This record gives sequence, structure tokens and C-alpha cells, in this order.
Amino acid sequence: MPKTILIIEDETRIAHWVREYFEKAGFRALTAADGPSGLSMAQTEEPDLVILDLMLPGMDGTEVCHSIRRDSDVPIIMLTARGKESDRILGLELGADDYVVKPFSPGELVARARAVLRRANKEITQDETLTIDGIYLDLASYKCLVDEKPVKLSRIQFSILESFMRNIGRVFSRQQLLESAFDGDYSGYERTIDVHIRRLRKKIEKDPANPKYILTVFGLGYKFME
Ligand code: CA
Repeated sequence: MPKTILIIEDETRIAHWVREYFEKAGFRALTAADGPSGLSMAQTEEPDLVILDLMLPGMDGTEVCHSIRRDSDVPIIMLTARGKESDRILGLELGADDYVVKPFSPGELVARARAVLRRANKEITQDETLTIDGIYLDLASYKCLVDEKPVKLSRIQFSILESFMRNIGRVFSRQQLLESAFDGDYSGYERTIDVHIRRLRKKIEKDPANPKYILTVFGLGYKFME
């Protein structure tokens, strides 16, 4: 089950960018553009983590944080444009678990989110490894084992396989796979993904010509099946 992240942020550009990044990292992400709707989604959607902007219309972040804390101990990361110590302390005193000062890199935010989730919920440590059938991925050390034998994957192959294993059965377009492999920082010919897929199949499939895991979805892209 992917963890659900609720992003409460009124700047749509930032909200979309953060959401995409979390989705690529294997999370389910929801967004709310103001305090009151964020608060109500925090109550109805029961997210695993809330990313909460401090400056929000309707109801500001400190108030939202305070209200969420009244009946939930969901981890909260505050986003703040202000770096003043008093704001940071205020955020933490209100019950936020961590804060990130804007501008931030999405990679940093995802790393902080993972750390907060790990602290909040020990079972998330299992998410540091993924196992499906005989395929084992250790996300911390970038290790891959197939039927207990180590397999050397490039960074891109590893990240494609990670996206697949986190989203069994989901159809990925070539573009989506490239973007997730290159952290969104990719432009180019999307057929290059076919080369990566071919190499990946050679490494993980018993019969790469008749793949059992990485299946071609005609006209759409690829999906991973158990
Ligand atoms: Ca804001």
C-alpha cells in the first residue's frame, strides 16, 4: 500500500510540483489549496503525512496544524518561506514534526518525509526494501537480488524497477518512466526507454523474450506484474 501524502499549499505551481515528485517516489499524493479544505481532507482522507504550508488563505498553517493535532497524531511537515527561528519553533511547538524552509528541493522534501514517516511508524522501514516473487530491491544500498543472486543494475534501471515494483499492474507510459528515472529532469527521445527495458528484462527475467514481470502494453507503455 503506498503511503498517502496530503499537500496543503495555495501556490498551485509548488503544489503540483511537490505532488508529482511524491508520486514519482511511489507515494499517493493529494492536494488542498487552502486551510479549511486542507483540514477537512486531513480528517476525511486520513493521510499518512501532511505537508503544510505556513501561509495559507482562509486559515493559516499554524491554525490548521493546531486543529489537526486536536484529534490526530499524523506526522506534519511545515513549509515556510520565513526562516526566522521563532517561526520554526512555533511550528514545532504546535506539533509539527519537521519543517522545510522555502525554497527547497523536492528531493530534500521527500527525504525528510521518509525520515518523519520512519520515525512516526516503524513499519515503514520495510519500505526500504521491496520484494516481489524472487526479486529483491534494497533502496538504501541500491542492491538488487534475483533468486538470491546479486544483479548489477544501473541507476536508471534500478529506478525504473523501483517504480514498477511500487506500482504493480499500473501502466506507465515511456515518458513517465523516463521522468521518474531522471527525477523529472529529462527531455529527449522516449523510445530510449525501450533500451533500458530490454536490458532490465535480461537481468531479471528468466526468459527475456517471453517476459513474465515487465510486460509491454501495446500502444501505451509498460507494466509490472507479479
Ligand atoms: Ca502559501
